[in-house]
Amino acid sequence: MPAEFLVDRPQPADLLQKHFGYRDFRPLQQEVIDHVLAGRDAVVLMPTGGGKSLCYQVPALALDGLTLVISPLIALMKDQVQALQANGIAAAYLNSSLSPEEERAVKRQLADGSLKLLYVSPETVLGPSFFHTLPHLPLSLIAIDEAHCVSSWGHHFRPEYGQLHLLKEQFPEVPVIALTATADKAVRHDIGRLLGLREPRMFIASFDRPNLSLAVLPGQKRWEQLRRIALRHMGACGIIYCGSRKSTEELAGKLRDVGVNAAHYHAGMEAADRSRTQDDFIQGKVHVVCATIAFGMGIDKGDVRYVVHYNMPGTLEGYYQEIGRAGRDGAPAETILFYSFRDVQTQLGFIEEIDNVVYRDVQRAKLQRMQEYAESPICRRRVLLSYFGEDLAEDCGNCDVCKDPPSWSDGTVAAQMALSAVYRAKQRIGVSTLIDVLKGTRSAPVTEAGLDALKTFGAGRATSAFAWQLFLQQFVQQGLLEIDYTDHYHLKLTKAAQEVLFEGRTVRLVSPETIKERQAQLKQAPAAPKPAAEVGAARQGLFDVLRELRRTLAAEINKPAYVVFSDATLTDMAARMPLSEGEFLDVHGVGEHKAKRYAKPFLAAIQRWVAEQGAR
Ligand code: ADP
Ligand code: ZN
Repeated sequence: MPAEFLVDRPQPADLLQKHFGYRDFRPLQQEVIDHVLAGRDAVVLMPTGGGKSLCYQVPALALDGLTLVISPLIALMKDQVQALQANGIAAAYLNSSLSPEEERAVKRQLADGSLKLLYVSPETVLGPSFFHTLPHLPLSLIAIDEAHCVSSWGHHFRPEYGQLHLLKEQFPEVPVIALTATADKAVRHDIGRLLGLREPRMFIASFDRPNLSLAVLPGQKRWEQLRRIALRHMGACGIIYCGSRKSTEELAGKLRDVGVNAAHYHAGMEAADRSRTQDDFIQGKVHVVCATIAFGMGIDKGDVRYVVHYNMPGTLEGYYQEIGRAGRDGAPAETILFYSFRDVQTQLGFIEEIDNVVYRDVQRAKLQRMQEYAESPICRRRVLLSYFGEDLAEDCGNCDVCKDPPSWSDGTVAAQMALSAVYRAKQRIGVSTLIDVLKGTRSAPVTEAGLDALKTFGAGRATSAFAWQLFLQQFVQQGLLEIDYTDHYHLKLTKAAQEVLFEGRTVRLVSPETIKERQAQLKQAPAAPKPAAEVGAARQGLFDVLRELRRTLAAEINKPAYVVFSDATLTDMAARMPLSEGEFLDVHGVGEHKAKRYAKPFLAAIQRWVAEQGAR
């Protein structure tokens, strides 16, 4: 490749500003993009809403030729292509939903080389007719979205993904980037191997989503609480996850009765009704969807301002994925979980019906982690992130525990005691045996493994077994210990544990008395929920004006509102109040294409608003 070509290649940061109107890359995006542009393979793990798409869209714009994007969901392809086209980027998709005419039009664009990105389903790309045309296309990059579908460990296994390694075999020179939001360790390692990638580098972004507030409310008087929450968010989009199909219908009806624009969604509905509800929600014609967990997979909607779990989910993975659908545009969003012990019993009932014993036990253990999260006396984000193997440096400040913290005491000595017992037991010890060791109880598992010979045997005698139980739970929640489901539920030491044992890191604990008090509170009638952070009151009026304008403009082109601008863009616009086209370009999410198209009506609306304020 001649050197002058490299010099001429557009810089990723410039492309980001020019086409997408964003000033800065999010964590890892730049690294991934540089790696891909150097022609290397990559596996990218980012939480939902983390910004995976730009990791291949920016390289697609930087490179000559065509980027092929493999995506399993037709709805998702359509959204992405619409969003790209709205930014003036030549993109299209091929899948079974196209009419023959539409398909011919896309193929013409392919033939004349005008496309930068082509989205295809795995079935289409592997189908004989398309696969044979591939060698004639100027392929510069292959992106495989939802790459966890390749692994039979994952819960979304798609057999056709298993054949995608043919792409790398056929085009060994074309870099492949595989992307997913699933954090499971077993799946992570399957991806590179099963797709046949060559020395892929694994990029793992933080799973933290600081703009989501986290709260757990007692599960009494749920409807009254939900009504208040929905009215507080009137006009904004939300999802209410329910435990049964029937309750999705009931709640949607009750919400409509109090004036909320709500619909229901579950897998028992006709396919046509389901997709209509989904489309109405995406386009903003329906504000709130009451749904079972069947809803949400692949919905790329930035402005969901709140997610409520009317019933507790069975795993933290599921919970995190579902709340992850809120606030994808980066603006503040609220998440609320209703919790009562009855939900635990319902989930246990489902689990008892599982035939496979190993799977059943794992689900039971995962449910316990979910329950512990709901009852957690420590920062909820800490608990969540430690579950995904991340160590949060500080309490988050944006969860209900942080906003009303319990009193802490120093637990460093207790932690050292427990962690060193795990260390000395060579990390082959579970929670109940560990408590026996700390208490100096010669139970069968202790004597059989010779654990009564450990130096730590009986070191924690002065503390009750019940207190140890609560302490160990907190050590797991704080990310000092990990429960290994693939190795007899044995406790493993984390990097943070090493720091406690060898580097003087201190540990805080909430006392058993405090925990009991807080659990009792959770069983009592709820206090009024606190309002979420919103746009500053002074600018709320302008925000509403801009939102109305966005609605009108979107209706004119018959597209969902977010295709015009996201909530985050309107929030920034309301804060900056641009009065010239140059200033308009400074707004978050405004690129050159959209500036040309929308500067005039928005600037005019802002000027009008300013004038009205002045006249008052
Ligand atoms: P996911 O990882 O779930 O695929 P997306 O790629 O859809 O996430 O990105 C989520 C949202 O974040 C989109 O609205 C996208 O435009 C926005 N986004 C992505 N990267 C950036 C960035 N560097 N700056 C600002 N917004 C970004
Ligand atoms: Zn917190």
